[in-house]
Amino acid sequence: MSDIRTIRAGGSDDDEHDPEGETLSAQWSQAEGLRAGLADELAEVDRALARVADGTYGVCVRCGRPIGAERLAARPTAELCIDCARIVEARR
Ligand SMILES: [Zn+2]
Repeated sequence: MSDIRTIRAGGSDDDEHDPEGETLSAQWSQAEGLRAGLADELAEVDRALARVADGTYGVCVRCGRPIGAERLAARPTAELCIDCARIVEARR
């Protein structure tokens, strides 16, 4: 992303008109999407580590029941049991 930023700052954005190549804007959007996704993942891991530290890891934050071992194996950062996850998902 810093490479794209440097190129953009240099004002050499002629490749925006290059019909062959991907535009800087498109690359930026892609990189930004990736960055946002990784930031979310990192936040989830941070919250999971905090729950490990305070001894609440593996306990559903919504209903307080244990999260299934299979679910934790598949999604180690899960904060909801499968039942709560389904309820929350259905409300979206
Ligand atoms: Zn639950």
